[in-house]
Amino acid sequence: MSRIFCIANQKGGVGKTTTCVNLAAGLASVGQRVLLVDLDPQGNATMGSGVDKRTLGHSVYDVLLETASIPEAKVRSDKGGYDVLGANRELSGAEVELVALERRNERLRAALKAVDADYDFVLIDCPPSLSMLTLNGLCSAHGVIVPMQCEYFALEGLTDLVNTIKQVHANLNRDLQLIGLLRVMFDPRITLQTQVSDQLKAHFGDKVFDTVIPRNVRLAEAPSYGLPGVVFDPAAKGAQAFVQFAQEMVARVAGELPTTAPADDSARA
Ligand code: ADP
Ligand code: MG
Repeated sequence: MSRIFCIANQKGGVGKTTTCVNLAAGLASVGQRVLLVDLDPQGNATMGSGVDKRTLGHSVYDVLLETASIPEAKVRSDKGGYDVLGANRELSGAEVELVALERRNERLRAALKAVDADYDFVLIDCPPSLSMLTLNGLCSAHGVIVPMQCEYFALEGLTDLVNTIKQVHANLNRDLQLIGLLRVMFDPRITLQTQVSDQLKAHFGDKVFDTVIPRNVRLAEAPSYGLPGVVFDPAAKGAQAFVQFAQEMVARVAGELPTTAPADDSARA
Protein backbone atom coordinates (compact mmCIF):
# COMPACT_ATOMS: atom_id res chain seq x y z
CA MET A 1 0.00 0.00 0.00
CA SER A 2 1.29 3.47 -0.77
CA ARG A 3 1.41 6.39 1.60
CA ILE A 4 0.52 9.56 -0.25
CA PHE A 5 1.87 12.97 0.76
CA CYS A 6 1.28 16.44 -0.63
CA ILE A 7 4.12 18.90 -0.47
CA ALA A 8 2.13 22.09 -0.08
CA ASN A 9 2.47 25.73 0.85
CA GLN A 10 0.52 28.40 -1.00
CA LYS A 11 3.59 30.61 -1.08
CA GLY A 12 5.94 30.36 -4.03
CA GLY A 13 9.66 29.89 -3.70
CA VAL A 14 9.55 28.27 -0.26
CA GLY A 15 11.17 24.99 -1.30
CA LYS A 16 8.23 22.74 -2.21
CA THR A 17 9.70 21.43 -5.44
CA THR A 18 13.18 21.03 -3.97
CA THR A 19 11.65 19.05 -1.10
CA CYS A 20 9.55 16.89 -3.40
CA VAL A 21 12.38 15.98 -5.78
CA ASN A 22 14.97 15.36 -3.08
CA LEU A 23 12.65 13.46 -0.78
CA ALA A 24 11.75 11.27 -3.76
CA ALA A 25 15.42 10.62 -4.54
CA GLY A 26 16.23 10.19 -0.85
CA LEU A 27 13.45 7.62 -0.40
CA ALA A 28 14.57 5.81 -3.56
CA SER A 29 18.14 5.71 -2.21
CA VAL A 30 16.94 3.84 0.87
CA GLY A 31 15.04 1.29 -1.23
CA GLN A 32 11.54 2.74 -1.35
CA ARG A 33 9.37 2.58 -4.47
CA VAL A 34 8.38 6.17 -5.22
CA LEU A 35 6.06 8.00 -7.58
CA LEU A 36 6.46 11.78 -7.85
CA VAL A 37 3.34 13.57 -9.11
CA ASP A 38 3.97 17.06 -10.49
CA LEU A 39 0.80 19.12 -9.99
CA ASP A 40 2.39 22.45 -10.89
CA PRO A 41 2.01 23.65 -14.52
CA GLN A 42 5.52 25.12 -14.20
CA GLY A 43 6.80 21.54 -14.39
CA ASN A 44 9.82 22.25 -12.20
CA ALA A 45 9.67 18.93 -10.38
CA THR A 46 9.48 17.18 -13.76
CA MET A 47 12.55 19.00 -15.11
CA GLY A 48 14.38 18.67 -11.78
CA SER A 49 13.91 14.91 -12.04
CA GLY A 50 15.68 14.92 -15.42
CA VAL A 51 12.46 14.53 -17.43
CA ASP A 52 11.89 17.02 -20.27
CA LYS A 53 8.44 18.55 -19.76
CA ARG A 54 8.32 19.68 -23.41
CA THR A 55 8.45 16.16 -24.82
CA LEU A 56 6.09 14.35 -22.44
CA GLY A 57 3.81 11.89 -24.26
CA HIS A 58 1.26 11.96 -21.46
CA SER A 59 1.18 13.99 -18.30
CA VAL A 60 -0.81 14.43 -15.11
CA TYR A 61 -3.18 16.53 -17.24
CA ASP A 62 -4.28 13.40 -19.12
CA VAL A 63 -4.74 11.56 -15.84
CA LEU A 64 -6.96 14.34 -14.43
CA LEU A 65 -9.06 14.36 -17.60
CA GLU A 66 -9.08 10.54 -17.56
CA THR A 67 -7.64 10.17 -21.05
CA ALA A 68 -4.67 8.17 -19.68
CA SER A 69 -3.95 6.01 -16.64
CA ILE A 70 -0.92 6.50 -14.41
CA PRO A 71 0.87 3.41 -15.82
CA GLU A 72 0.37 4.89 -19.30
CA ALA A 73 1.45 8.41 -18.37
CA LYS A 74 4.34 7.86 -15.96
CA VAL A 75 7.97 8.13 -16.99
CA ARG A 76 11.12 7.04 -15.19
CA SER A 77 13.66 9.33 -13.60
CA ASP A 78 16.62 7.05 -14.24
CA LYS A 79 19.04 9.09 -12.19
CA GLY A 80 16.54 9.71 -9.40
CA GLY A 81 15.44 6.08 -9.22
CA TYR A 82 11.73 6.88 -9.11
CA ASP A 83 8.71 7.28 -11.40
CA VAL A 84 7.39 10.67 -12.45
CA LEU A 85 3.90 11.70 -13.45
CA GLY A 86 5.01 14.86 -15.20
CA ALA A 87 3.44 18.25 -15.79
CA ASN A 88 3.79 21.10 -18.24
CA ARG A 89 1.88 24.21 -19.30
CA GLU A 90 -1.03 22.11 -20.55
CA LEU A 91 -1.94 21.56 -16.91
CA SER A 92 -2.93 25.21 -16.41
CA GLY A 93 -5.90 24.52 -18.69
CA ALA A 94 -7.07 21.68 -16.44
CA GLU A 95 -8.11 24.17 -13.79
CA VAL A 96 -10.79 25.57 -16.08
CA GLU A 97 -11.73 22.29 -17.72
CA LEU A 98 -12.19 20.47 -14.42
CA VAL A 99 -14.79 22.96 -13.18
CA ALA A 100 -17.37 21.54 -15.55
CA LEU A 101 -16.60 17.90 -14.81
CA GLU A 102 -17.99 15.46 -12.28
CA ARG A 103 -15.89 14.28 -9.34
CA ARG A 104 -13.52 17.09 -10.16
CA ASN A 105 -11.74 16.94 -6.81
CA GLU A 106 -11.33 13.19 -6.81
CA ARG A 107 -9.78 12.35 -10.14
CA LEU A 108 -6.22 12.06 -8.94
CA ARG A 109 -7.33 10.01 -5.94
CA ALA A 110 -9.11 7.53 -8.21
CA ALA A 111 -6.09 7.22 -10.49
CA LEU A 112 -3.73 6.69 -7.55
CA LYS A 113 -5.96 3.94 -6.12
CA ALA A 114 -5.27 1.90 -9.23
CA VAL A 115 -1.51 1.94 -8.57
CA ASP A 116 -1.74 1.55 -4.80
CA ALA A 117 0.26 -1.69 -4.82
CA ASP A 118 3.05 -0.35 -7.02
CA TYR A 119 4.54 2.29 -4.69
CA ASP A 120 5.57 2.72 -1.08
CA PHE A 121 5.42 6.51 -1.32
CA VAL A 122 3.60 8.93 -3.60
CA LEU A 123 4.79 12.55 -3.34
CA ILE A 124 2.67 15.29 -4.87
CA ASP A 125 4.32 18.63 -5.69
CA CYS A 126 1.57 21.26 -5.38
CA PRO A 127 1.42 24.65 -7.12
CA PRO A 128 1.79 27.84 -5.05
CA SER A 129 -1.93 28.38 -4.51
CA LEU A 130 -4.93 26.80 -2.85
CA SER A 131 -6.43 26.06 -6.27
CA MET A 132 -8.38 23.15 -7.70
CA LEU A 133 -5.11 21.45 -8.56
CA THR A 134 -3.96 21.69 -4.95
CA LEU A 135 -7.41 20.49 -3.89
CA ASN A 136 -7.00 17.42 -6.09
CA GLY A 137 -3.73 16.78 -4.31
CA LEU A 138 -5.20 17.26 -0.83
CA CYS A 139 -8.15 15.01 -1.67
CA SER A 140 -5.74 12.24 -2.71
CA ALA A 141 -3.35 12.34 0.21
CA HIS A 142 -2.92 10.85 3.66
CA GLY A 143 -0.88 13.78 4.77
CA VAL A 144 0.61 17.16 4.04
CA ILE A 145 4.25 18.08 4.37
CA VAL A 146 4.75 21.84 4.59
CA PRO A 147 8.20 23.16 3.75
CA MET A 148 8.79 26.56 5.24
CA GLN A 149 11.49 29.12 5.71
CA CYS A 150 11.86 30.37 9.23
CA GLU A 151 10.98 33.96 8.45
CA TYR A 152 8.66 36.45 10.04
CA PHE A 153 5.76 36.07 7.57
CA ALA A 154 6.01 32.29 7.42
CA LEU A 155 3.66 31.82 10.35
CA GLU A 156 1.05 34.10 8.83
CA GLY A 157 0.57 32.04 5.69
CA LEU A 158 0.47 28.87 7.74
CA THR A 159 -2.92 29.73 9.27
CA ASP A 160 -4.63 29.68 5.85
CA LEU A 161 -3.02 26.40 4.92
CA VAL A 162 -3.91 24.75 8.24
CA ASN A 163 -7.51 25.95 7.85
CA THR A 164 -7.67 24.54 4.32
CA ILE A 165 -6.36 21.21 5.57
CA LYS A 166 -9.02 21.20 8.30
CA GLN A 167 -11.77 21.95 5.79
CA VAL A 168 -10.65 19.26 3.38
CA HIS A 169 -10.39 16.84 6.30
CA ALA A 170 -13.93 17.70 7.45
CA ASN A 171 -15.63 17.73 4.07
CA LEU A 172 -13.69 15.84 1.44
CA ASN A 173 -10.99 13.55 2.80
CA ARG A 174 -11.15 12.10 6.30
CA ASP A 175 -7.67 10.61 5.89
CA LEU A 176 -5.93 13.94 5.50
CA GLN A 177 -3.57 15.05 8.26
CA LEU A 178 -0.97 17.72 8.69
CA ILE A 179 2.04 15.45 8.94
CA GLY A 180 4.62 18.04 9.59
CA LEU A 181 6.42 21.27 9.03
CA LEU A 182 9.83 21.00 7.43
CA ARG A 183 12.27 23.80 8.12
CA VAL A 184 14.12 24.49 4.87
CA MET A 185 16.82 26.88 3.64
CA PHE A 186 17.76 27.16 7.29
CA ASP A 187 20.67 29.32 8.35
CA PRO A 188 21.37 29.02 12.10
CA ARG A 189 23.59 32.13 12.01
CA ILE A 190 20.51 34.26 11.43
CA THR A 191 19.01 34.98 14.86
CA LEU A 192 15.50 35.53 13.49
CA GLN A 193 15.49 32.08 11.89
CA THR A 194 16.43 30.44 15.18
CA GLN A 195 13.69 32.43 16.94
CA VAL A 196 11.02 31.49 14.39
CA SER A 197 12.17 27.88 14.54
CA ASP A 198 11.71 27.92 18.33
CA GLN A 199 8.26 29.47 17.91
CA LEU A 200 7.29 26.77 15.45
CA LYS A 201 8.28 24.06 17.91
CA ALA A 202 6.38 25.82 20.71
CA HIS A 203 3.17 26.04 18.63
CA PHE A 204 3.32 22.82 16.64
CA GLY A 205 5.30 20.47 18.88
CA ASP A 206 6.01 17.12 17.27
CA LYS A 207 4.44 18.29 14.02
CA VAL A 208 7.79 19.96 13.35
CA PHE A 209 10.11 17.42 11.72
CA ASP A 210 13.39 16.72 13.51
CA THR A 211 15.34 17.07 10.28
CA VAL A 212 16.30 20.60 9.27
CA ILE A 213 17.29 21.33 5.65
CA PRO A 214 20.12 23.88 5.55
CA ARG A 215 20.52 26.55 2.92
CA ASN A 216 22.91 24.87 0.51
CA VAL A 217 23.86 26.11 -2.93
CA ARG A 218 24.38 22.57 -4.30
CA LEU A 219 20.63 21.96 -3.91
CA ALA A 220 19.93 25.08 -5.97
CA GLU A 221 22.44 24.12 -8.67
CA ALA A 222 21.23 20.55 -9.17
CA PRO A 223 18.04 21.28 -11.24
CA SER A 224 20.08 22.90 -14.03
CA TYR A 225 21.78 19.51 -14.46
CA GLY A 226 18.41 17.71 -14.46
CA LEU A 227 19.35 15.93 -11.25
CA PRO A 228 17.96 15.81 -7.72
CA GLY A 229 20.46 17.41 -5.31
CA VAL A 230 20.69 14.08 -3.49
CA VAL A 231 22.15 12.53 -6.67
CA PHE A 232 24.04 15.57 -7.97
CA ASP A 233 26.27 15.90 -4.92
CA PRO A 234 25.54 13.24 -2.31
CA ALA A 235 28.27 14.58 -0.01
CA ALA A 236 26.78 18.07 0.21
CA LYS A 237 25.12 19.05 3.48
CA GLY A 238 21.78 19.67 1.78
CA ALA A 239 21.78 16.26 0.11
CA GLN A 240 22.63 14.53 3.36
CA ALA A 241 19.83 16.38 5.14
CA PHE A 242 17.30 15.15 2.57
CA VAL A 243 18.46 11.54 2.94
CA GLN A 244 18.05 11.98 6.69
CA PHE A 245 14.58 13.40 6.09
CA ALA A 246 13.72 10.39 3.92
CA GLN A 247 14.76 8.14 6.80
CA GLU A 248 12.64 10.18 9.20
CA MET A 249 9.63 9.73 6.90
CA VAL A 250 10.21 5.98 6.59
CA ALA A 251 10.39 5.75 10.39
CA ARG A 252 7.20 7.80 10.79
CA VAL A 253 5.29 5.62 8.38
CA ALA A 254 6.64 2.42 9.94
CA GLY A 255 5.66 3.63 13.40
CA GLU A 256 2.18 4.43 12.08
CA LEU A 257 1.20 7.97 11.33
CA PRO A 258 -0.07 10.03 14.26
CA THR A 259 -3.79 9.44 14.63
CA THR A 260 -4.73 12.96 15.66
CA ALA A 261 -6.58 14.86 12.98
CA PRO A 262 -5.42 18.34 11.98
CA ALA A 263 -8.46 19.66 13.83
CA ASP A 264 -6.74 19.31 17.22
CA ASP A 265 -5.14 22.16 19.15
CA SER A 266 -1.57 21.32 18.31
CA ALA A 267 -2.28 22.17 14.68
CA ARG A 268 -3.42 25.70 15.44
CA ALA A 269 -1.14 28.44 14.18
P1 ADP B 1 8.72 26.25 -4.61
O1 ADP B 1 8.52 24.95 -5.30
O2 ADP B 1 8.05 26.33 -3.28
O3 ADP B 1 8.35 27.42 -5.48
P2 ADP B 1 11.57 25.75 -4.97
O4 ADP B 1 11.80 24.40 -4.43
O5 ADP B 1 11.46 25.89 -6.44
O6 ADP B 1 10.29 26.41 -4.28
O7 ADP B 1 12.72 26.68 -4.38
C1 ADP B 1 12.82 28.06 -4.69
C2 ADP B 1 14.27 28.42 -4.96
O8 ADP B 1 15.06 28.19 -3.79
C3 ADP B 1 14.90 27.56 -6.04
O9 ADP B 1 15.76 28.36 -6.81
C4 ADP B 1 15.67 26.49 -5.28
O10 ADP B 1 16.78 26.01 -6.01
C5 ADP B 1 16.10 27.27 -4.06
N1 ADP B 1 16.25 26.39 -2.88
C6 ADP B 1 15.33 25.55 -2.37
N2 ADP B 1 15.79 24.94 -1.27
C7 ADP B 1 17.06 25.39 -1.08
C8 ADP B 1 18.07 25.14 -0.09
N3 ADP B 1 17.86 24.29 0.93
N4 ADP B 1 19.24 25.80 -0.20
C9 ADP B 1 19.46 26.67 -1.22
N5 ADP B 1 18.55 26.95 -2.16
C10 ADP B 1 17.36 26.33 -2.11
MG1 MG C 1 7.56 24.55 -7.11
